[in-house]
Formats: sequence, C-alpha cells, structure tokens
Amino acid sequence: MFPQSDFRPRCAKWLIATGLFLMLSACVDKPTTLERVKEDGVLRVITRNSPATYFQDRNGETGFEYELVKRFAEDLGVELKIETSDNLDELFDQMQKPGGPVLAAAGLIDTEQRKKQVRFSHPYLDVTPQVIYRNGQSRPTDAGDLVGKRITVLKGSSHAEQLAALKLKNPAIEYEESDAVEVVDLLRMVDEGQIDLTLVDSNELAMNQVYFPNVRVAFDLGEGRQQRWAVALGEDNSLINEINSFLDKVQKNGMLQRLKDRYYGHVDVLGYVGAYTFAQHLQERLPKYEKHFQTFAKKEQVDWRLLAAIGYQESMWQPSVTSKTGVRGLMMLTQNTAQAMGVSNRLDAKQSIQGGAKYFAYVKDQLDDKIKEPDRTWFALASYNIGGGHLDDARKLAENEGLNPNKWLDVKKMLPRLSQKKWYSKTRYGYARGGEPVSFVANIRRYYDILTWVNQPQLEGSQVAESNLHVPGVNKVKPPEDNPPL
Ligand code: GLU
Repeated sequence: MFPQSDFRPRCAKWLIATGLFLMLSACVDKPTTLERVKEDGVLRVITRNSPATYFQDRNGETGFEYELVKRFAEDLGVELKIETSDNLDELFDQMQKPGGPVLAAAGLIDTEQRKKQVRFSHPYLDVTPQVIYRNGQSRPTDAGDLVGKRITVLKGSSHAEQLAALKLKNPAIEYEESDAVEVVDLLRMVDEGQIDLTLVDSNELAMNQVYFPNVRVAFDLGEGRQQRWAVALGEDNSLINEINSFLDKVQKNGMLQRLKDRYYGHVDVLGYVGAYTFAQHLQERLPKYEKHFQTFAKKEQVDWRLLAAIGYQESMWQPSVTSKTGVRGLMMLTQNTAQAMGVSNRLDAKQSIQGGAKYFAYVKDQLDDKIKEPDRTWFALASYNIGGGHLDDARKLAENEGLNPNKWLDVKKMLPRLSQKKWYSKTRYGYARGGEPVSFVANIRRYYDILTWVNQPQLEGSQVAESNLHVPGVNKVKPPEDNPPL
C-alpha cells in the first residue's frame, strides 16, 4: 500500500504531463481554418445568384462578388468552389454546418443579428438602402409614409432588420418577408404593381433598373452601409485575417477599383428614361438583327452581345440612320471603313453588321500586345470610336503622368485632355473629341452587361427569371409549385 502523501504528487505530475501532452497534440493536430483551406486546395464560398453577385453567362461564371473572391482564391493558390443558396436564411444556416462553406461573399451588410453568427471582413463596397416605389404612384419621402403600404423585402435581409427596428417605433408599419424571391423579383413586383414598395441596396437597384422601367427610388432609408464578406464564428481568425489583408491589398493596388469600375462604373449611364427605352428596343428591335450579330460575331470571334451593344450605341438598332458627318447605317460606318470592309450598301443591316464586326476585330487586333483582357476590349471600343492614333496619344499622356497605359481606368482619364490645346498640342495626332470614346465605352459596357444578363443560360430553372420582358434568350420559368409568386 502506498502512503497517500506519496501518491498525490506523483499522480498530479502524471495528470499534468498527460494534460499538457493532450493539449500539445491538439495544437499540433488541429489545423487552422486557413491551413485547412490550403490543405484541401479548395475555397468553398457561398453566395446569392443575382446580377450584382454571381451568375453564369455563356462564357461561364461572372459577377462582382465572383470576380473578387476568385482573385482571393488565386492568391491563396487554391481552387474556388461556389455554392449558391436559395435565400439568406439558408446561406447563414449552411455556414454554421460542419464541413459547410467557409466564406460568404453575397453582398452582405454587417447587421447586429448576423454578428451573432458570423465574423465580418473589412468593407469593400459602399451602398445605401433605398425604398423603391412605382412611377405614377405617390412618392413616399420618409419612414412615416411606409404606413398602409404593401411592402415586401428579402427574408432575413438587412432590410428586414431595418424594417423590424422601424416597426418597434411605429407599429402601424406592416411588411412581408419572402424567402422565395431574389432582388430582381422584388423590383419586378414593384414594377408590375403587385406590391407598393420594397427596400434594396443601391448597387442592386443600379444593376437591375434597366429591366424595370417603372421602378423609382423613393428615398434612402438611413445611413450608407458597407458590404462585407463573412466567416462563421465557429472558425478561428486565420481566414478572416487573410481576407482582410487581401481586401486591404486590392484596395491599395487599385484592383478593387477596377472591378467596381467594370461592374458599377457605368451603371448610371442610362438613367430612368434610357432604361425604359432600352427595355422597349430590346423587345421590338433586337430580334430582327440578333441572327446577324450572332453569325458575324462568331466569324470574327467576338462576343455577339458586345457587337449588338455597339450596334445599339451607334444607331439604337436602326438600319437607315444617317449622321451629318456622313456615317451611316446600323453600325454607323464611314464611307472609307465600309469600303475597306467590303460593304457595298451601308444601309443594309446585314452588311452593316458584317462590316462592323470585321472592323471591330481588326482594330482589336491592331492593339499593343501589352493590353490584356478585359481592358483590351475597352481599348478596342475606344479605338473603334476615335481611332488608334488618338488612343495611342492618350496612352502616352498616361505614361507621362505615371499611370498605366495598358489599363482602361487610367487611359480614360487622359482621353478628355485630347480636346484641350494645352495637352493635344504636344501629341502626335493632335486634337480629338476625347470625351466621346469615354462615354462610348461606358454606354456599350452598360448595354453589354444587360445583354449578358438577359441572355444567360442558367436562368433556366431559377426563380429569378420571371422577368416581365419578352426578350430573345430569356427563359421564362415558373416558380416551383410550393413557392407561388406573391
Ligand atoms: N445586402 C442585402 C443584405 O445584406 C441583400 C440584398 C440587397 O442587397 O438588396 O441583406
């Protein structure tokens, strides 16, 4: 029998040693979230299927969130795997599940409720929550005007939280939360008068406004907010820290601004009237020429929607337009260009599109090899509009200013200088209406975005496709039986 006094210290030492060993082995064995992602070689991201976040076009996956998170995955050296959730509640549920996606990149606002479930990253996009109403109805101007209105918002959204807070102060406000719809549906419902009001973030409205000619901003509800990525609270800090350094880096090196420019830089180009007109022309005019755009785009290896977007910018898809400066037809070709491209009758829509396609492919081919996509496309458009010589002048001006002559964001700042003597007198090709290609490119990018979104195959089988536009390429789909439209 061991004397007790002898047993206790030895036992305690043993216990401490075992405990330390277990703790140490736990530290050694359990990788951090970031290590796990790197070991798996896969970054699993959850998002929403919406034009402002993630969607697929004929070239594959695209969208602001997608592009940003793709660059993050590239930085980590891992493969990106995107998952989409049907609604916001499901998105947060999925994140809590063991083995679920580690990151949400879905245009999310950091609300108080959500902070109980996830850790938010540094911000990457400033937005404002906006109350949306239908043109022709009386315009609400403050929160008091929400009383007595049929209001629907996304279930579990930051906007539902905002309305809940307002209702505490003013119980007469009624609203519905729906988990069967996306932002596009909410805007359509306002557009068609099924509901009176909705509340969405300004970036979502900007992306979608063109499909819904009747929607208008009533007022901004509260302060501006910021969209952020989110990681589940159950994870350690390794991934969120890595995300924050990445976001800080892309903020500093201009990549974030370039992405914003690509997706949002041109959204205010159309305005309400333009949006309405475009929606009409999409239905009435494009179907007559779509085949030609497709045929000749394929032949010249350009995206037909880009070609169609150029056609809209040039003539609003009208084949017999003639300008005072002598350019004519659907693609507004000059006499010289038409001749060089083998076009005998510029007012013939088919010939005009063929000539335009050939000319666009030609100017793109002439560009400096140092200009890479997507900038290459924007440079080609600018060159199509103003000519390669003037574009090179602007690139030289950019270089002199210490800017990047191969980035559209930088060169477009220089182009307007070509119309100021102080600058153009020092250039090789002299005066040019340099502001013109800037708006030319911005407009075309806007039309191109719309055509890309309207003509995406994955709308098939999704609820978001219940568009009010009968446009070519839109697959109208009925919502599932158990999710009747509101
Ligand atoms: N940003 C919203 C949210 O955080 C999602 C929908 C929207 O952008 O309108 O809940």
